[in-house]
Amino acid sequence: MKFDRNWFYVFVFCVLLSSNMQAQDMAYPIEGDGVYSFLRRWNRVDTSYVREFTDLNTGRFNDRGGLELGTVYLIPLLHPGDVYPPLEPVYQPVDVSIFGKAYQDISVRSQRLKNACFYIIGGHGGPDPGAVARVDGRELHEDEYAYDIALRLARNLMMEGATVYVIIQDPDDGIRDDRYLNNRYNETCMGDPIPKNQLDRLRQRVNKVNGLYERDQNKFDYFRTIELHVDSRNQGKRLDVFFYHSDNRHAQTLATGMRDLFRMKYDTHQPGRGFGGFVEYRGLYTLRNLKVPSLLIEVGNIQNESDRRRIVLNNNRQALANWMSQACVEDFEKSKW
Ligand SMILES: [Zn+2]
Repeated sequence: MKFDRNWFYVFVFCVLLSSNMQAQDMAYPIEGDGVYSFLRRWNRVDTSYVREFTDLNTGRFNDRGGLELGTVYLIPLLHPGDVYPPLEPVYQPVDVSIFGKAYQDISVRSQRLKNACFYIIGGHGGPDPGAVARVDGRELHEDEYAYDIALRLARNLMMEGATVYVIIQDPDDGIRDDRYLNNRYNETCMGDPIPKNQLDRLRQRVNKVNGLYERDQNKFDYFRTIELHVDSRNQGKRLDVFFYHSDNRHAQTLATGMRDLFRMKYDTHQPGRGFGGFVEYRGLYTLRNLKVPSLLIEVGNIQNESDRRRIVLNNNRQALANWMSQACVEDFEKSKW
């Protein structure tokens, strides 16, 4: 048979058209649906889908901007990294209610951290508030801010398919978007009360992580501990984010990768500022005694007004967690080579 070029083009066109039509799905809403619930059912979770959805469906909304039963709606294309149907969640040892009502919906975005296990520790907690700063007649406690960042980081890692243990937990405070976080003393070490004595406190969290690691060491390919702190220096001292690591080359590699990523993010978001955060081995009790490659991250000086913006603004706490989790994904991917 003679090859006919025109028919070939028609064929290619049809293939393109049908693949396009497949990608651009449409559906009817169900009783009680709003834009958010409709999109969530199609695993379009990120808020940027809402705008795309409204643009795609101009003229199909009712007077109040809501969905009409019996009207068909176009569903925005998936963004890179998102999938439908949603991925099966990885088994998580943590009860997601600790993330709080607004954040306990954990939709798994990828399996990039499958077979990675993280132990996330918010520094201090229980009877120990850590560093305290006095601002506008309020007391800001290090442990509350470290814990909020710890939860955000843990949640991000879970969304990338990691198994995550949240070692220090607060049954009442989830992820909070407030500027001033209320102080409490009811944190536990995965349910156990935190002792008053400092050494006992540190020993408790180290033993908890080491015990879990010993039990699970054949279950995962990659283990890391990340402990979060806010430093306290004199008021005039601005600090960048410091990455202290245990005496272990894997810990050092993660710390270095994270520092480099932070530097890149700072160069993009605040050009010319320069990022002075550094990586260092430090013989701190937890870093010396944890059997897992471990980092202890100091996110700034709680006494310094400009550093404090990094911790009191919820978007900044989220950005810190996002960059840390992104660095973890990159480190895990490299570890597989
Ligand atoms: Zn601390």
